Amino acid sequence: MTNPCRHLQVRFVSREEDAEFVECVSCGEVFDAAELRDIAAEENEVGPDEEQEANAS
Ligand SMILES: [Zn+2]
Repeated sequence: MTNPCRHLQVRFVSREEDAEFVECVSCGEVFDAAELRDIAAEENEVGPDEEQEANAS
């Protein structure tokens, strides 16, 4: 069984031309900061989407 880490606590490690890299404090994984934003966006999609549909109709 894997326990997927949500990387809620990250620290900045390095920056390249078009990307910033962060390290998860919990699991130590290093990844592009843009991926972290994608993860956060997925979590926020459910509620707001339903509201928008209600307003459109
Ligand atoms: Zn993590």
